[in-house]
Amino acid sequence: MQIGRYDISVLDASRFRLDGGTMFGVVPKVLWEKKKAPDEQNRIRMGTNLLLLRGTNRTALIDAGMGAPLNPRFAEMYAVEYPQFTLEKALATHGLSGKEVTDVILTHLHFDHAGGLSFVDEHGQRQLCFPNATHYLQQAHLEWALNPSLKDRASFIRGQFQLLVNSGKLKLVNGETEIMEGVKVLPMNGHTVAQQAVLISDSQTTLFFPADLIPTSAHVPVPWVMAYDLHPLETINEKQRMLSRACREEWLVVFEHDPEIPVARILETEKGFAPGEVISF
Ligand SMILES: [Zn+2]
Repeated sequence: MQIGRYDISVLDASRFRLDGGTMFGVVPKVLWEKKKAPDEQNRIRMGTNLLLLRGTNRTALIDAGMGAPLNPRFAEMYAVEYPQFTLEKALATHGLSGKEVTDVILTHLHFDHAGGLSFVDEHGQRQLCFPNATHYLQQAHLEWALNPSLKDRASFIRGQFQLLVNSGKLKLVNGETEIMEGVKVLPMNGHTVAQQAVLISDSQTTLFFPADLIPTSAHVPVPWVMAYDLHPLETINEKQRMLSRACREEWLVVFEHDPEIPVARILETEKGFAPGEVISF
């Protein structure tokens, strides 16, 4: 898909599973299991749909996926399909390696978004996967990630992003910011502190990457909010506001964690918002 100066692709960078109850918060299982069938351990399938933007002299990524699982216990608990699905493989299908990536926009530092930033080499040293890239993150989010609450500390694996913090390759931004021509980040505070959603637009098409504000197509109904969220009422306000715009302005919406429906339009029905036409590119 072409938007402005960018040729845009979806990269399927990792597969794993998370507890369905946690993914759907207060929504009863009898409702959510019709949309996302759980396995015998009550987990639902999760994808990691990242965006690759290629334009004049820029090769940009939005989010970095999970990366290699930390240990066998972690891999088993989250049913991580590694190394069947990796960002390295997804980039290679486009003839790219990590060294060619010029920009990485990080929505936030939870392990399933930032785990793919670094890897452990054969000498046991952690290295950046995108050593030549400028990495963009909201300053308020970094401050939170370095000192999270007891509720969300398990979502941050500091070893995975500490190297980036010390590398000189991290560019902290504050508030709504245009990162590249036609690519804007918008802070959202419901899921975590200062997660940044991304809007890519030209005069004809707008692609919205809400990350964990709307992680799957089953989370389009406004009250379907994850138990992970720090501020669920804020998530509800943010979803209402952004989905109204998505409908009105006919945006395409990326569901980062949906293995079945990576991109769709949004419909407004008498029961509220719903995923509409599925888009593939
Ligand atoms: Zn998250």
